[in-house]
Amino acid sequence: MSETINYGIDLGTTNSAIAIYTDGEVEVFKNPSNLKQSLASVVAYKGDRIIVGDKARELLKRTPNSVFGTFKRKMGTSDKYFLEATDGFISPVELSAIIIKELKNFIHSGDNPDSVVITIPAAFDTMQSNATKKAGYQAGFSEVILLQEPIAASLAFANKSANNLADGKWLVYDFGGGTFDVALTSISDGEMKIIDHEGDNYLGGTDFDRAIIDKYIIPAMNNLGVFNNLEAELKKTSGKYNRLYNKLLYIAEEAKIELSNSDISELEFEVVDDTGNSIDIYLELDKSTFESIIKPDIDRTVLMIKEVMLRNQLTARDLNCVLLIGGTTYIPYVKQILHDELGLTIDSSMDPTTAVVVGAAYFAGTKLKSTQNVKTTTSSDTIKSKLKIRLAYDRVVQTDTTPILCRAEYVEEGYKYRIIRKDGGYDSGLLPLEDKTKNYLSVAAQVYNTYVLTVYNSAGDKLYKETIGITHGKFGIDGQPLPDNICLVVDAVDENTTYLEPIFKKNDILPLKKTITKQISKTIPRNSNDRLIIKVVEGSIDTLPSANKLIGLIEISGSKLERDLIKGSDVELTFEITESRDIRVAAYLSLTDQEFNDTFSPTEHHVSETELLRETKYFKDNLLAKQKDYELDANYEKAEEVKNILFDVINLEEEIGELEHDDISDTKYKIDIRKRKLGAKIHTFYSRSFLTKTIELYYDQKINTTNSLLAAKSTESDSI
Ligand code: ADP
Ligand code: MG
Repeated sequence: MSETINYGIDLGTTNSAIAIYTDGEVEVFKNPSNLKQSLASVVAYKGDRIIVGDKARELLKRTPNSVFGTFKRKMGTSDKYFLEATDGFISPVELSAIIIKELKNFIHSGDNPDSVVITIPAAFDTMQSNATKKAGYQAGFSEVILLQEPIAASLAFANKSANNLADGKWLVYDFGGGTFDVALTSISDGEMKIIDHEGDNYLGGTDFDRAIIDKYIIPAMNNLGVFNNLEAELKKTSGKYNRLYNKLLYIAEEAKIELSNSDISELEFEVVDDTGNSIDIYLELDKSTFESIIKPDIDRTVLMIKEVMLRNQLTARDLNCVLLIGGTTYIPYVKQILHDELGLTIDSSMDPTTAVVVGAAYFAGTKLKSTQNVKTTTSSDTIKSKLKIRLAYDRVVQTDTTPILCRAEYVEEGYKYRIIRKDGGYDSGLLPLEDKTKNYLSVAAQVYNTYVLTVYNSAGDKLYKETIGITHGKFGIDGQPLPDNICLVVDAVDENTTYLEPIFKKNDILPLKKTITKQISKTIPRNSNDRLIIKVVEGSIDTLPSANKLIGLIEISGSKLERDLIKGSDVELTFEITESRDIRVAAYLSLTDQEFNDTFSPTEHHVSETELLRETKYFKDNLLAKQKDYELDANYEKAEEVKNILFDVINLEEEIGELEHDDISDTKYKIDIRKRKLGAKIHTFYSRSFLTKTIELYYDQKINTTNSLLAAKSTESDSI
């Protein structure tokens, strides 16, 4: 009788997998069709058939138009894929659900689990996390717990029997197909913790494939044939060579993989150019050219590692090793740069493609199903009793005794209990059952321990029985850190400014709860269509509100009010966020004495070129004005600094201008991230006067579109 979730899924950009935890051990299920321990995250439509996995990936070469891969990158966005077969659209969530369903077919026992742990990159934002949960529900699960991938990898690493880890710190470097994560992990006194992380959701092996096309194949094609605007014709859905683009991605990936084991790889394909000439293209890509193509991307990962080390005041000597995870770490050049530039000890002892799913299953083995927290005696029992039992204990321990807490309801006179370890190594003896009972179990080392708890009534009849499993010598994790700050956008009308107020901070341990009180900035008449709208954003605290991501809105409509809501009156907001990043906000209006639960509606990420252009233009105008000011003041040093940032802004503006409106790549999401980073840079770089001006202007623009909260003295009460 198991009440833990036990099933773990790694829903990867390129490869997915499923594993189960049973009695202290993890099994990664094999794909029944090819006996591999993973499934390519690719879905293909062929007539009315849906093909999933490696076979679908193979189809990229032939019928690329109805084959979909790397959709994890679009999770949490409003983007959809056009599906010729149905003349309709399919969302990244629906495609992910198809992958999850296929993984369920790997379970050879025929079990149909209703709860599961699904992993997500540590850098996934709230919208991407929500989309992942949705995919799990669509695939038929009723409970989905999210686990950050670096935590999963660390669990797998720490629990590998060969690893008798002493206290210390290490880095997890997860470079997969679509995402990059680096996490700082520590073990101290037998407890494992994730201390900090950095990551980029748009950086992975796929970008190497694209870079091979951009920097190597396209120039070569232009040399060999006559093409007009080749790059655009390849990349946009309506482009003349769009079919070829998907095929090229496949070819580039194969070449890249070959280069992990050889010095040269061949790329071959056929194309008809704009003059109608059919050209056989044959190229040889050598290792050093490939390395120069991917170096900028690897350097970005090195920078992120340095950031984490700096932030935590660590040098290479403070770290035991850097643990390599993800298919991209097969590339020898990646290891070389990590070693040469950071002086870190490389650990590639884990299988980079299964580490995450193994860790997910370990985690699932310690997670209770939410539906099974309370056990009641069943009707099959001969003796009628309302007895309810709830047990609390650690499922994974490092010590040789461990406490177990038993809460019982409807206990009657003379009830007794007994706990016996199945191997005979422990017996509590018959003890009186109370409403709250605490006991210490003795645990056998380095094995999975099974105990049976039995409750008897005064006549000695068996009322209740439960099996307890405790693994010794493995690591569990107590809580996951929040990957980014979550803030409220607050308008201070009197000062004409907008600022961010943190609700939860990056690396706070989930779940979290907090109540803050604010004042309403505007009167909202009862029965009106006016609304109180509060924006919740995610990202850096030290920045302009526009440099953050909007993750949802708290909304209270005038039509629901029992009295007018007067400007300046209090609203008490209670924020709750679960381990799987579900956000709930309750609002209490003291003036009308009304409470609103679930006022929060999460958004999807939508990036529009016009909005991007508007914002970059806005950055540019500000910077130009500032540069002029500095020049007039003869402060040439500062003027030069402004000029440098301006240079980045103008570059970005140009790239936005080049975006095709039906571009199928994820360039616009990458640009959006860069725009936000620039916003943050501008904010931290410049003087107070500049900042004030920026905020004022920002507010002027914004005032017409939403009404919000008034900033004033605020009070808060903290967390669980
Ligand atoms: P994800 O977690 O994103 O699903 P994986 O960890 O499975 O990804 O890694 C997939 C990525 O690794 C792909 O971009 C793939 O091309 C790349 N990859 C796999 N094997 C190799 C190899 N031998 N050499 C270089 N890259 C590889
Ligand atoms: Mg992965």
